[in-house]
Amino acid sequence: MTAKAHEGFPAEGGCTCRGVRYRMASAPMFVHCCHCRWCQRETGASFALNAMIETDRVELLSGAPVTIDTPSNSGKGQKIVRCPQCHVAVWSHYNGAGTKVAFVRVGTLDDPDLAPPDIHIFTSSKQPWVVIPAGHKAVPEYYRTAEMWPQASLERRQALTR
Ligand SMILES: [Zn+2]
Ligand SMILES: [Zn+2]
Repeated sequence: MTAKAHEGFPAEGGCTCRGVRYRMASAPMFVHCCHCRWCQRETGASFALNAMIETDRVELLSGAPVTIDTPSNSGKGQKIVRCPQCHVAVWSHYNGAGTKVAFVRVGTLDDPDLAPPDIHIFTSSKQPWVVIPAGHKAVPEYYRTAEMWPQASLERRQALTR
C-alpha cells in the first residue's frame, strides 16, 4: 500500500438512515475489489469493494447493528453486519478469516475514495464491460496473502493470531 493510501484515516462511515455510524481507526490492511458472482448479487452491481481491517479498529459510534449469517462463495459463510432499520450492510466477517478481521464496505465510508482497491479478485467472473485499470493487481480467483500484501499489513495480520 502506498503512503498516500493512509491519508484521510481515521475515517467515519455509516448506513443510509444514519442510525449506524462507525469509525475506522486506521487505514485498512488491504482492499479487495471482488468480482465474484456472489458479490455481484449482494451488491446488485458489478463488484464489491471491501477494506480489510482489524475488527477492534472499527469503533461503533452509534446504533446497534445486527449480524446476519449469510452463505458465501467459499461455502464457509459470512456474517454480514447491517443496520437494523435500513438494513444497509456496513461490514462483514468471513468465516474463513474469522471475526478478528472486518471487511468494511468501502461504499459506506463518508469518503469512499479513501480506499481504492489493492487487488481485483475473481476476475474470471468479472462483468465484461468492467475494465481493470492498467497496473492494478488482478487474479482470476484468489491469491496467497504472503505474496500480495505489503509487509506492514502482513505484520498487522500476524499480530491478530497471537
Ligand atoms: Zn440505517
Ligand atoms: Zn466476492
